[in-house]
Amino acid sequence: MKAAVLHEFKTPLKLEQVDLPKPGDEDVLVEVEACGVCHSDLHVASGDWPQFAKIVKKPLILGHEVAGRVVERGARVRNLTTGDRVGVPWLNWSCGECEPCREGNENLCARQKITGVTVDGGYAEFIRAPASHAVKIPNNLSAVEAAPLFCAGVTVYRALKRAQLARGERLGVFGIGGLGHLAVQIGRAFGADVVAVDISEEKLEFAKSLGAQETFRAGSGDELKTLRETGGVHAALVTSAAKAAYDAAFSCLKPAGILLIVGLPAENISFPPILMAGREIRAQASAVGTRQDLFETLAMAAEGKIRAQVSTRPLSQANEVMEELGRGLVTGRAVLTPR
Ligand code: NAD
Ligand code: ZN
Ligand code: ZN
Repeated sequence: MKAAVLHEFKTPLKLEQVDLPKPGDEDVLVEVEACGVCHSDLHVASGDWPQFAKIVKKPLILGHEVAGRVVERGARVRNLTTGDRVGVPWLNWSCGECEPCREGNENLCARQKITGVTVDGGYAEFIRAPASHAVKIPNNLSAVEAAPLFCAGVTVYRALKRAQLARGERLGVFGIGGLGHLAVQIGRAFGADVVAVDISEEKLEFAKSLGAQETFRAGSGDELKTLRETGGVHAALVTSAAKAAYDAAFSCLKPAGILLIVGLPAENISFPPILMAGREIRAQASAVGTRQDLFETLAMAAEGKIRAQVSTRPLSQANEVMEELGRGLVTGRAVLTPR
């Protein structure tokens, strides 16, 4: 089959023919119809996260926002059948036995496998996945619309669900990219007043079209002064890979506000304790989501409450798409299609 393969960090993916994966007894083989290009793929491909780089399989097929159709199933698979439309998320497999798994946080599983990181992902014509973790796609969602929900969607859904915003509270979304554009919609669906912040005027216009009530362009100056002077935000969700977005978000929080840590810059983030204590700032990090979070995210999309805005590109353009994403040139989510 055709696949885009990462051989070494910081080198372009190679488009090549690789062996078709064989499903084990508990796996399905999925024909990929769409795979979203997440900014995490850029971090993985550049070895950005030193604490993480050592678990990256090599050579590796990237891609963890996979949507397709089951074409083969292992002997012990009962929950899925040939022809089923499924997605394969970042959380490829979890053990069900460790402490986080037993406590309902399978996304924190100590033994988890990660799609497009520790096992091959969806920048390919086919993917093998454990049937237990491949999740059915609602009938009224196309593969390209569904794919981004398997990482971008579920991640911001979980972060916002756990923030427990009250109706009418102000939510700042810092970074209106693949994750952020879905966060704006989920924030609105949860009843928050959404403030969108990005460095790009075009992304802010996009955020408005998705329902953001206010927009602010972040830059080198003090463009967020007005946001602070009008009271700041109850919750600041950082969905940007830039450290600067964290500094901006922190400065805009109301007393007792919550910083939602989702974007993953390679650099450390740091805040003065006196300013954290003085305002009793809370911080809550979030790692993608559980299957339950994914069901809930897909249900919101099936009900028309959220919709991923996608541009489709052929798999052969994987490198170009990644380059464009790195330069901030992708609006919504770019989705690769193998055919
Ligand atoms: P993206 O490139 O689609 O979006 C990032 C957005 O941030 C862009 O619109 C960009 O213009 C904007 N931006 C850049 N600098 C900014 C600044 N200083 N202030 C405000 N906005 C700024 O990326 P994405 O796919 O949405 O991913 C975003 C981040 O989330 C990445 O770091 C990714 O690794 C991370 N992520 C985390 C999880 C998790 O589980 N925690 C899951 C998925 C992705
Ligand atoms: Zn992702
Ligand atoms: Zn576990």
